[in-house]
Amino acid sequence: MEEYGKRASNANLTKDLGLKNLENVYWNMSPAELIEDTILLGEGILTDTGAIAVNTGKFTGRSPEDRFIVCDDKTENAVWWGKINKKFEPAKFDALFNRMKAYLVGKDVYVRDSYACADDNYRMNIRVVTELPWANMFAYNMFLRPTDEEIENFTPDWHIVCAPNFLADPEVDGTRQSNFAIINFTEKIIMIGGTKYTGEIKKGIFSVLNFILPHEKNVLSMHCSANVGKDGDTALFFGLSGTGKTTLSSDPNRRLIGDDEHGWDGNGSVFNFEGGCYAKTINLSAEKEPQIYDAIKFGAILENIGFKEGTSIPDYDDVSITQNTRVSYPIYHIDNIMEPSIGKNPKNIFFLTCDAFGVLPPISKLTKAQAMYHFISGYTAKVAGTEDGVTEPQTVFSACFGAPFLPLHPAKYAELLGKKIEDENVSVWLINTGWSGGGYGVGKRMSLSYTRAMITAAMEGQLDSVDFVQDEIFGLNIPATCPEVPAEILTPRNTWEDKVAYDKKANDLAQRFIKNFETFEEGVPQEILNAAPKLLV
Ligand code: ATP
Ligand code: MN
Repeated sequence: MEEYGKRASNANLTKDLGLKNLENVYWNMSPAELIEDTILLGEGILTDTGAIAVNTGKFTGRSPEDRFIVCDDKTENAVWWGKINKKFEPAKFDALFNRMKAYLVGKDVYVRDSYACADDNYRMNIRVVTELPWANMFAYNMFLRPTDEEIENFTPDWHIVCAPNFLADPEVDGTRQSNFAIINFTEKIIMIGGTKYTGEIKKGIFSVLNFILPHEKNVLSMHCSANVGKDGDTALFFGLSGTGKTTLSSDPNRRLIGDDEHGWDGNGSVFNFEGGCYAKTINLSAEKEPQIYDAIKFGAILENIGFKEGTSIPDYDDVSITQNTRVSYPIYHIDNIMEPSIGKNPKNIFFLTCDAFGVLPPISKLTKAQAMYHFISGYTAKVAGTEDGVTEPQTVFSACFGAPFLPLHPAKYAELLGKKIEDENVSVWLINTGWSGGGYGVGKRMSLSYTRAMITAAMEGQLDSVDFVQDEIFGLNIPATCPEVPAEILTPRNTWEDKVAYDKKANDLAQRFIKNFETFEEGVPQEILNAAPKLLV
């Protein structure tokens, strides 16, 4: 077992993890070295801007059904078990880990020392062991990067072991199929196999923090992006995948704290968990999203993209592999960032939804009760990626805008957020980045420049003195005017040619909100229940 690279004198994979008889162990390699190995192994290619492009194989997204948590003394009574948080037996974990270790015998591995949580009070050291060099580089991009000196004294709190070419045998191993991501809170290990999709690494640690921070430290963990204005005012953007967290938090006039995962503690610290961004690249253009576009340079890793024919120039409109094409890059690829990635108590919170029914207003101001109602609901819509025209979008309700990553009952996060919104008197806005003028197939998606203008107006207080109109069904307060935005698009009903169709669709969506909320009714205060939509009769 040959070991190369920088590491702490007591760093020992055999003692800490039981990894034995590996071939070469590459510690904390630079991005350049990892890129070189990636290319030599035929795992990736260089693109015209110096970014590398890789394919993640069979999985081009996370596999939520194959995400497990080891059920033991630490988790049994704390985790909200069910379809999202699936149980795994401790003995089965150990057995599967042994099989993975046997698989790695004689193979090269890459080790990355990194950490999560930009606020030192919550810093969590993570040692990531990967089979593939570019997965290691993903960890370099996405987690926080220790200094050389910190690496010399590095003691891991958590380990991630990621061996995509190792396949589980469901019969023997107790997994659902050959791929898996399993979190063990007692041994502090995340074990990933059978999938090269890097999001499993990132969201694995996110899930860990979503347990530890609220449960053990009374800190709210959030699936949101965050940025800071010139006056130091922090804004948070919650939303499910594809609603605009990454896109809208990159704003040339505001410094970026982070694009996806944050904590908010009792001392007014809003801190990034991560050290990088993971942006969608579908239809990316330099005109509409210059900051993200320019971040795709040496050091960035593109996933599952296509190329302009006969060149190494990415074609971001090519979705032949997946709609979920992605790029990861260290946060410093964005030019105006907060350093360190910490802000203060937010002044504004935006709930982003991509309503493909075209029913919800592009911007509305929520009362405290409505804010809690929408946070618990966590609504967005998915459009089926089909060629043959009009298909009905699907509603998605994901509590706290991040249910797949929340090990605790949603009420825990909602309670923490509610208290903070109350105490800090935060303004909460609902932003529909989805359809206008009709649903998917009839209307079109809200223009990004209008969405940006509405968010800017809200943050700059320009909506404080305008008139608001209340929408009948959802009870949402809609500004009658907004600078830089045509007034007629602010009220969705006005943008639909067929008003009867609008009322029907709005009623239909309201019904789905009400149905979804049934699961949460118990224990939710009457005031919040009153914020539910009211059906037209
Ligand atoms: P994830 O949690 O998966 O990272 P996300 O919330 O960060 O998702 P984004 O990466 O910001 O989502 O994706 C939003 C996508 O929608 C981008 O591709 C963006 O270009 C596109 N888009 C189109 N119109 C709008 C709009 N009005 N507002 C925001 N995004 C828009
Ligand atoms: Mn994102």
